[in-house]
Amino acid sequence: MRGFSREVLARDAAWSLADGACKDLTIEWSRWENTFAAALTQAGRLAALAAPAAVCSACPITAECADLAELSGYTGIAAGEGYRNGRLDLARQRHPRQRRTA
Ligand code: SF4
Repeated sequence: MRGFSREVLARDAAWSLADGACKDLTIEWSRWENTFAAALTQAGRLAALAAPAAVCSACPITAECADLAELSGYTGIAAGEGYRNGRLDLARQRHPRQRRTA
């Protein structure tokens, strides 16, 4: 039942995306997402979000977009934020084996 509810919510949110402010920015959006994904620092990732976040700030469906990103497990930029597997992704996480212990 819970999976069905998430599916319905995601479908409803997806219908709204046709009204998004980014609908004609496919090429730019892909470039912005690639830049965001390649950024090695949090400062770099925040800088990469500046242009798409400006577009999202004028978008009438930001809440629906954020819901869809979460529900669909999206990786990329949505609703002015970076997402990885449906979760906010502002800081590149180190693999536990890469953490220093000293
Ligand atoms: S909130 Fe941003 S990513 Fe989502 S539909 Fe609007 S412009 Fe596009």
